[in-house]
Amino acid sequence: MSGEFELISRIAARISPRSDVVLGIGDDGAIVRPPVGRELVIVTDTLNRGVHFPEDTSAFDVGWKALAVNLSDLAAMGATPAWCTLALSLPAPDDVWLDACIDGFLALAVQHDIALVGGDTTLGPLSLTVTACGTVAAGTALRRDAAKVGDDIWMSGTLGDAALALREVLQNKPCADELRSRLDRPSPRCELGRALAGIAHACIDVSDGVLQDLGHVCVASGVGAEVRLDALPASEVLAVQVEGAKRWRLQTAGDDYELCFSADPTQHSVIEALSNSLDVALTRIGRVVSGQGVRAIDAGGGEVQLPSSGYQHFG
Ligand code: ADP
Ligand code: MG
Repeated sequence: MSGEFELISRIAARISPRSDVVLGIGDDGAIVRPPVGRELVIVTDTLNRGVHFPEDTSAFDVGWKALAVNLSDLAAMGATPAWCTLALSLPAPDDVWLDACIDGFLALAVQHDIALVGGDTTLGPLSLTVTACGTVAAGTALRRDAAKVGDDIWMSGTLGDAALALREVLQNKPCADELRSRLDRPSPRCELGRALAGIAHACIDVSDGVLQDLGHVCVASGVGAEVRLDALPASEVLAVQVEGAKRWRLQTAGDDYELCFSADPTQHSVIEALSNSLDVALTRIGRVVSGQGVRAIDAGGGEVQLPSSGYQHFG
């Protein structure tokens, strides 16, 4: 068992340096050197045990997901990840748990070249708050207020696996590893987000459900959207297990960490080429229309009412 400073030392001992970190863990604050001509993008997201991840989630996956959800926000802004902090609240000073959590955190950090430069370590219910910084060329960030009437709406990857996994966990049903990892180990679309700067108009990451998240884009941009539910991309696992409206409900439930973006129809072939070069499925799911609100429609164009549009705290 360790005290606070031993726990921090365990983390600090494992950090690999980044050349633009002037001062990392160990002082009252970190010092970094932002690149000239680029803007800083700052995001923060918290994971609370039992709210954002099931109680039985492994320490490795908790660490992974805490960073992944933040990288997904950077991706949705078109930013290149650079630095992050980790505020950790632990119910007990458990070295084994902490090491495994940092294993998961750093496994993803290395993939995206983001440096852990500080944080806080406190006693309390299990909770992780990450603040992550990235950079974009000035004026090129992907914003929610940039959708234009006539844009196509695109989705990366597939939707609904995480919600299906969560349903199985909550019902105490066995959940295939492949499916469970879609809930516990999301792959943030950082490369795609970066590549979309200059191609896409508006962009958002689908954390709370595509219809709800797209609703935020519509409000910010002063437009409406039409989404074809039958066009929402599904994995084979989901397509085999769940059909029709039940599938749509899972695909609009959230926790997918895919990117939803709008782009002028003239960008169609550019986006298909991007899908090939990055090896990420990109599917057209609808279009931006005048008016307000998100209309979910079926193959015949009829409006479909789903019981819930997505996840909301205090909702
Ligand atoms: P202070 O008392 O100034 O808040 P702390 O004792 O909380 O300092 O932290 C000491 C150093 O360790 C700081 O540089 C802080 O950023 C870093 N640190 C603390 N907890 C973590 C953590 N969970 N992950 C990374 N760095 C941490
Ligand atoms: Mg502190």
